[in-house]
Amino acid sequence: MGDLNMAKAAAISFKEFRTRYNTEAACREELFRQRFPKGFVCPKCGCTEYYPIRGRKTCQCRSCRHQTSVTAGTVMHRTHLPLTIWFWAIYLCVTDKRGICAVQLSNTLGICYESAWYLLKRIRAAMGQRDANYQLSGIVEMDDCYVGGPSHNGKRGRGTDKAKVVVAVSKAENGVPLFARMKVVEDIKGKTLQQIVNEYFADKTRVECDGYRSYRGLDGVELNYSIYEAGDLHWLHTVISNFKTFLMGTYHGRMTELQSYMDEFCFRFNRRTTGNQLFLRLTRAVATSCALLS
Ligand SMILES: [Zn+2]
Repeated sequence: MGDLNMAKAAAISFKEFRTRYNTEAACREELFRQRFPKGFVCPKCGCTEYYPIRGRKTCQCRSCRHQTSVTAGTVMHRTHLPLTIWFWAIYLCVTDKRGICAVQLSNTLGICYESAWYLLKRIRAAMGQRDANYQLSGIVEMDDCYVGGPSHNGKRGRGTDKAKVVVAVSKAENGVPLFARMKVVEDIKGKTLQQIVNEYFADKTRVECDGYRSYRGLDGVELNYSIYEAGDLHWLHTVISNFKTFLMGTYHGRMTELQSYMDEFCFRFNRRTTGNQLFLRLTRAVATSCALLS
C-alpha cells in the first residue's frame, strides 16, 4: 500500500506550544483570531464594533448590544473546562498521528475519563463539520467497504453485518489523491449513494466506481464504472487500508462512534501536507464550529 505521508503532519514544537498558550487569555486570543480572522463580527447583526467586557471574556456588540464569547455557539459552548485544557487536547490530537483515545488523553492531562471523552467527541465533531464545507470535484474514486470485527453471520463482502461505509477520494489530473470523505451508511442502495453524491460531490464530478448496480443509476455525476477490476481504485483502497490500521491501532476496533473516528481520519488525511500548520487548522476548525445538541 502507498505511503500517504501521514507522518509529516507534525505540530508546532512542544516548546512553542507550551510558551504560547499557557494562559486562559492567550488561548482566548488565539480563538478570537481564528474565529474572526478579519476582526470581530457580531453573530446577531453583523456589526464589527464591540466593547470588551468582564476582563475581555465577553464581547458586547456596539450596535445591538448582543453579548458573545469566543466559545459561544461552537463545540466549546458552555464548557466548564479551562481553555488551556482544550488547547492541550487539540495539540495532542494533532501530534499523535495515530489519533489519541480518551484513556490516553485523561492520563496525559490529569482529567477524568468523562472530560477526555467530552473533549474528543467535540474536537472530532469540529473536524467533521470543517470538512463538510468542501465538496469533492474533478475525478473521484468511490466505493463501499465494511469495517469492524469478524462477521457474525459468516457472510463476506456485501451482505455482512459489519458497519457499512461509503468512501470517496478525489484526485488530481496526475492521479495524486486530494480529499477524502467517509460515511457510515445503513445500506448500499442507490438512494443512499445518491444522497452522498448530492451532499458531497460537485456537479459533473467524474466518478470512478465498480459496476455494482447501485452505482449505475447515480444522477448528476459522470459515471465511469465499466473498466474497474481488481487493482483499480488504488488510492481509495489505500485510504481504506490506512483507516483500518488507524482504527485498530488506537481504538481497538471499537465500533461505536465510528463516524467520528472517520471524521478525524479524513481531517488528518485531507491536511496531510500542511505540516506544522495542522495545529492552527484544527484550532480554527474548533473556533468556527457549531455547538453539538447533546
Ligand atoms: Zn450586534
